Amino acid sequence: MKSAILPQFDRNNGWLEILPPLAPANVARGNLKTDVVIIGAGFTGLAAARRLADLWPDKSILLLEADRVGNTSAGRSSGFAIDQAHNIRAKNFADGLKAEQNQINLNRAGQTYLREIVQENGIDCDWDESGKVHAAATEMGEQKLHTYAKHMDLLKLPYSWNNSGAMKTLTGSNFYQLGLHTPGTIVMQPAKLVLGLAKSLPENVTLYEQSAVQSINFASTHELELTEAHITTENIVLANNGFAGQFGFYQKNLIPLVTWGSLTRPLNQEEQEMLGGMVTWNIIPADPFGTSTRRISGNRILIRNIYSYSSNLNAKESDRLWAKARHEKSLRNRFPMLNDLTFDYTWGGPLSLSRNGEPVFGDLAPNVYGAFCLNGVGIARGTILGKLLAEHLAGKPSPLLDIINEAGRPNKLPPRPFLDWGVKLNFANRRRVAGLEL
Ligand SMILES: Cc1cc2nc3c(=O)[nH]c(=O)nc-3n(C[C@H](O)[C@H](O)[C@H](O)COP(=O)(O)OP(=O)(O)OC[C@H]3O[C@@H](n4cnc5c(N)ncnc54)[C@H](O)[C@@H]3O)c2cc1C
Repeated sequence: MKSAILPQFDRNNGWLEILPPLAPANVARGNLKTDVVIIGAGFTGLAAARRLADLWPDKSILLLEADRVGNTSAGRSSGFAIDQAHNIRAKNFADGLKAEQNQINLNRAGQTYLREIVQENGIDCDWDESGKVHAAATEMGEQKLHTYAKHMDLLKLPYSWNNSGAMKTLTGSNFYQLGLHTPGTIVMQPAKLVLGLAKSLPENVTLYEQSAVQSINFASTHELELTEAHITTENIVLANNGFAGQFGFYQKNLIPLVTWGSLTRPLNQEEQEMLGGMVTWNIIPADPFGTSTRRISGNRILIRNIYSYSSNLNAKESDRLWAKARHEKSLRNRFPMLNDLTFDYTWGGPLSLSRNGEPVFGDLAPNVYGAFCLNGVGIARGTILGKLLAEHLAGKPSPLLDIINEAGRPNKLPPRPFLDWGVKLNFANRRRVAGLEL
């Protein structure tokens, strides 16, 4: 089966571009034979490779990445490893308590696994366990926070309130009227994290970058074609998110989206004094269609908003320019005192969403396995699903594996072009409703 669409990434990802340049890629070349091929080195693929290597120390594992680790969605994310997610499909933050508790347990296990790896390998990625603040700028946003708080009460999760004064002390901005702090989220510099994860992979994993899988012949021994390599393997793990549809799995069940981030230049001394507030903070919008904002070390401000529908899976330049204009507006609304502050970088990254919020996990065909469609919260979720998929392959049962095996799978979507129209209309409407929260 040939992949009609391959991932394409520009070099606008601020998280990666502010780091020292990458060493040349190790590209897959020639005829290769291996026990397991994992396709995709995002959070899911990196976790699956690490765990499988632990469980199968005598087997060889190839991790194939189409682009560079750090330059794809994992390294383009906003760096919130979330325990309890605000759900962009639900009107309020979550559906059903038991399902939500299961999600939290999975996400926490993903956080725990990441923490262990970061600590054991001394990965420098600005790891910060101070939590996230959901912030509201409007009455509607405040309402949403109160609804969210009720939900947290039901789940017996801790939270605390920040009034507008406390929000100003935190961010330096008068924009936010109310904040709800939840301690369970971890934030980090996402490109640094994935680069550290890749660098510390066990010895029986070989990572090849700039090595897109172009086609697969699924058989008792699978054959994979790459531009410069031919690979044979007994087992394939698909950890390539929405691109898994290109190999024939769940293509009609995944909604392809792109979301966008921008990073400002560093604030100069005068701007830092004008702004005030703390030197780092991490804000998630009250309205799921609002704006995530962070002040990160190095005195830059991150803005993330806008979901654009992308039927060809990749980010489009015209959408990038639109998102950048939108980000400028969001920046000015929040920080009118920083009139001259400009963005150094604006980037997009593909995600996939399912209509019912469920991921793909487990057996897809004989000796073909997959974990993908993480509904926009892949840092914690991708990590745990990658880990659990490795345990599934190695026959290692656990209560968490039961949870994910018993969970639903993405349901069917309306056919195109109705899907395209429906998603675009829904998103335009939700942006309109988000109003100033955007
Ligand atoms: C701007 C932005 C902000 C975000 N913020 C957050 C956040 O704060 N918190 C959070 O949890 N999530 C966030 N996300 C979502 C998060 O990035 C994804 O959920 C996560 O990256 C999914 O992990 P994954 O490993 O499953 O897939 P991906 O990270 O998408 O990795 C899949 C990999 O497969 C590779 N691939 C695809 N096809 C092939 C092929 N044929 N051959 C070889 N390789 C292939 C791709 O290049 C890619 O590297 C954000 C995303 C974006 C774009």
